[in-house]
This record gives sequence, structure tokens and C-alpha cells, in this order.
Amino acid sequence: MLEIFRQELHPHNLEQKIYNLSYFCDGCREPGIVSRRFRCEQCDFDLHDECAHVKQSTTHDFYKNNIFTFFREPPDHGSIVCDLCGDFVKGFVYYCEESKKNLHPMLP
Ligand SMILES: [Zn+2]
Ligand SMILES: [Zn+2]
Ligand SMILES: [Zn+2]
Repeated sequence: MLEIFRQELHPHNLEQKIYNLSYFCDGCREPGIVSRRFRCEQCDFDLHDECAHVKQSTTHDFYKNNIFTFFREPPDHGSIVCDLCGDFVKGFVYYCEESKKNLHPMLP
């Protein structure tokens, strides 16, 4: 499956960093704890490792028959909830048109 070009997610170079500080991911708009992340210093822009490696489409072990397509913003049908963890999706999302299922990019 094709990975989305990093430049489509952010116009500048993102540096890979490991900090022992919590941060806020500008992709999925969820907090990040201690982990690898991709950061643009000049914009104060951070992405989870997973959110910096999103694909145009993906599958998940849990929903083997569904193809999920990546969206930078939740498709416009009100508040959507991740079918896997039950939390609201605020930013990056994988959406399956056929089953109407949503997944956070940080797939467990
Ligand atoms: Zn993220
Ligand atoms: Zn930037
Ligand atoms: Zn989730």
C-alpha cells in the first residue's frame, strides 16, 4: 500500500526526534507520550511516528475484509468515533466507505 508523501502532510522537512516529553500530535490531534515522533521546529508541528507514515489505504487485522482510506480530516458526517477504541476521532483518520468504520491512524 502506498505511503502518503510527507510533504502532503506538512510542507517542511520533519525531523525524527525522541524526547521524554509529552506532546500533541498535529495529525490525529491526540496526545503523544514518550516515543519517536516527527517534528518541524519552526512551526512547532509534531506527528506521531504512525501519523508520519500514513498510507493512502490500509487494512486492519480486526476488520480483515475492509479497506480503509486515509483522510486528513474526518469525513463530514458529524462527530465520528474510532470503532476500535471508542474514542472520538479529531484529525487523521482511516475510513471505510463500505462498512462506515473509522480507525485512528495509531493502530494497536
Ligand atoms: Zn498522531
Ligand atoms: Zn513546518
Ligand atoms: Zn482509536
